[in-house]
Amino acid sequence: MSFEQLSPATETVDVHNPATGAVVGSVPVQTADSVATVVRELRAHQPAWEALGVRGRATWLRKLRNWLLDNESQLVEQLHAETGKPRAEAVLEVMVICDAINYYADRARQFLAEEKARPHGLLTASKKLTKVYRPYPVVGVITPWNFPLMIPGVDAVPALLAGAAVVIKPSEATPLSGLGLARGWQEIGAPPVLACVTGLGATGVALVDTVDLVQFTGSTRTGRAIAARAGERLIPCSVELGGKDAAIVLADADLARAANGIAWGGLVNSGQACISVERVYVEAPVYDQFIALLTERVVAVRQGLDDGSYSADVGAMATEQQVEIVRRHVDDAVARGARIVTGGNAVGPGAFFEPTILVDVDHSMACMREETFGPTIPVMKVADAEEAIRLANDCEYGLSATVWTKDRDRGQAIARRLEVGSVNINDAYANLFCFALPHGGWKNSGLGARLGGAQGLRKYCRQQAITAPRVPTPKNEVLWYPYSPRRGRTVARILRLLAARGLQRRLRRTEPHTLSISESGQT
Ligand code: NAD
Repeated sequence: MSFEQLSPATETVDVHNPATGAVVGSVPVQTADSVATVVRELRAHQPAWEALGVRGRATWLRKLRNWLLDNESQLVEQLHAETGKPRAEAVLEVMVICDAINYYADRARQFLAEEKARPHGLLTASKKLTKVYRPYPVVGVITPWNFPLMIPGVDAVPALLAGAAVVIKPSEATPLSGLGLARGWQEIGAPPVLACVTGLGATGVALVDTVDLVQFTGSTRTGRAIAARAGERLIPCSVELGGKDAAIVLADADLARAANGIAWGGLVNSGQACISVERVYVEAPVYDQFIALLTERVVAVRQGLDDGSYSADVGAMATEQQVEIVRRHVDDAVARGARIVTGGNAVGPGAFFEPTILVDVDHSMACMREETFGPTIPVMKVADAEEAIRLANDCEYGLSATVWTKDRDRGQAIARRLEVGSVNINDAYANLFCFALPHGGWKNSGLGARLGGAQGLRKYCRQQAITAPRVPTPKNEVLWYPYSPRRGRTVARILRLLAARGLQRRLRRTEPHTLSISESGQT
């Protein structure tokens, strides 16, 4: 399938390199009709894909992994061009998909195996019970601009392995990498069950209106609209949304590691990651020392357009609008009494914002309450861990958090008091690479989760329950017609025997039911 065939779209959207402003591509704005045609085509091919079985599908996914590795440098260049991120970060996107393919292709047979269930009582003892995982035919994967290859890849892989067909709708700001993934699928000659549609929000709306399950990653605002529409259509959706992740630094932490980890966790991908460190709470006794170490690390970070020789640590922001949000948060913080330790400015040409540390911040400021999604690290001094936990939980989001301490038990205990979907102790981002664990947000950070071992595949499946006789069957069953007083009493006695606990209740005789209607008309 090519866009030329499917999309007589007259409108197009240009893709810019945010670091230079150069136009690096142009894609069609696909209409609702065009999206419906793509989904119809995939729907027609999905049964054969499902019939291929897990082994057959895993073979194609492994071929896709090889294609990704063989085309790594092109994919990295494309990511670099449409996001302005350093190549060192772009390459991670390719590798995480390959790792996800290996993890799920190696385990899909086990995770999707039919399950035998044991009958729970005499009534069903003669039945063979089986639970079967059958895919949702067409899954829509709608993605944001911050990881334009990794997110569509990591969501499409388990859906395809589960037997679904997948339509990716990448962000209008960064559609080239998603298209690249679909092109790779075509180039390896795989069955036509993976496609990519491009356009603005309306193209995403059209996709939600035609698929059988929506896997969405993006803003809380859009996630809410998608969940509402999915509710109307009675289709499932999983929405992975924004965050305001807290880091808690305890007085006994390895402060050098905490400063290094928080600098990276706050600045990687220019801070444009859902699980970016967005705010830091440090126990008073080590506050000054932590700020000194963090500043030393952040000041040393090189920002700019990576020339291919690892010349930059922090690249551009993906869009000018994102630069504006960061500027607003910094200005608001300063206006309310915060102090900039380093950074604090948008710097051009291109969509760059300096790596920034803010101190003397509090929860009246946007930088401590709203998702910034930029290279800012606001740090607040707290009296103790209790205050840090209270402030960390004082937030509409609940995506993830980090805790820095040498006391392992205390770290584990604090993790269990945080209202977030994942916690990394003495690390940042670690959970993202642990496919055995679910990646999902609490509160306004999402509904459902991606990955998480078997659940990461099974979420793309409908569960089917099958019963079959285990023994030769009679011509008729006691529960079937005809009903008669004798049979009715016998059945009632058997059911009571099974349901009741205690000899007296089990053996009590049941009288035929009579309906007594009181004078007031109530039964
Ligand atoms: P966005 O919500 O603006 O857009 C995301 C995608 O949805 C785009 O492809 C867009 O075209 C499409 N879209 C827009 N309106 C739509 C609608 N009504 N129906 C269907 N599709 C629609 O998000 P963004 O600005 O691209 O991404 C940034 C956000 O993504 C941040 O909030 C970030 O935290 C979040 N994010 C979350 C995770 C996670 O795993 N929790 C990961 C990465 C990013």
